[in-house]
Amino acid sequence: MAKAQPPLQLVLDEITECARASEAFGKVADYIPELAGVNPGQFAIAIARPGHPTLVAGDSDVPFSIQSVSKVFMLALALGKLGDQLWSRVGREPSGQSFDSMLLLELEKGYPRNPFINAGAIVTTDAVLQGSSPRETLGSLLRFIRAAAGDETIHINDRVAQSEIATGHRNFALAHYLRSHDNLKNPPELTLGTYFHQCAVEMTCTQLANAGLFLVGGSRTPRLVSEARIRRINALMMTCGHYDGSGDYAFRVGLPGKSGVGGGILSIVPGVASIAVWSPGLNHYGNSKLGTEAMEQLTTRTGWSVFGPHMTKGG
Ligand code: GLU
Repeated sequence: MAKAQPPLQLVLDEITECARASEAFGKVADYIPELAGVNPGQFAIAIARPGHPTLVAGDSDVPFSIQSVSKVFMLALALGKLGDQLWSRVGREPSGQSFDSMLLLELEKGYPRNPFINAGAIVTTDAVLQGSSPRETLGSLLRFIRAAAGDETIHINDRVAQSEIATGHRNFALAHYLRSHDNLKNPPELTLGTYFHQCAVEMTCTQLANAGLFLVGGSRTPRLVSEARIRRINALMMTCGHYDGSGDYAFRVGLPGKSGVGGGILSIVPGVASIAVWSPGLNHYGNSKLGTEAMEQLTTRTGWSVFGPHMTKGG
């Protein structure tokens, strides 16, 4: 006789079925040529909880480019290296602008609003890179991610990185502009080479959910940053993790989250779970369209929201 499925697994299966039935995928990020050919019909979701097996549904073993979700891990490394000095180079306010916008950077004289918009992420990578080589920096990043996920197979897709190096003109513009304000300490090519490789980390939904456990907190998760830093990183994910769609994500989902243009989203239920969702098509903010809708369904059904009134542990 088949074993009864736990309720949370059932919820994941139903959400996956619903996503698979939809053809309103959104648009795959084609400004990075290597990502333009990804099949938009793919969907996966995974939930990792301390002390429980990770629950998965859909294409949860298909690797995808985590892109800007990598900024969460690089921020953790930067805070480990610089502590509060990081804030002299990058702010902690939502930008209300697109992820690659130049606008505020010019108005605010090369001081990016936050570490998750591209300009702020480039500064964050530059800070970690200072005093070491791109190889060492990327090695530290991979070590961090592998330790977080408990998985030594996680790697960087060099083709995706090269594709962005060849076409990332806006990021080059941002880096040179930062350098003109002395807020980039390494040559732009060096920092961007590191940044593009960081964005080209490839993970499955299962691996990404596991890698997010360090932000859930508590005694049964990998202890890679302090509890105080966990709260701060989660706060930044909530306020800035979806660019100019951050307010909409907070309203609809109610959890800290970080999106990437590869279509992945990592969301944290503090003290309870790390959730990864992936669907390559993007909405007009550059965040996964079906991924956001799936997260909204999940938190509506589980009651998971940092805005209360009751945070349950889920089924
Ligand atoms: N590598 C991408 C870029 O810099 C990341 C953007 C994103 O995922 O939002 O354009």
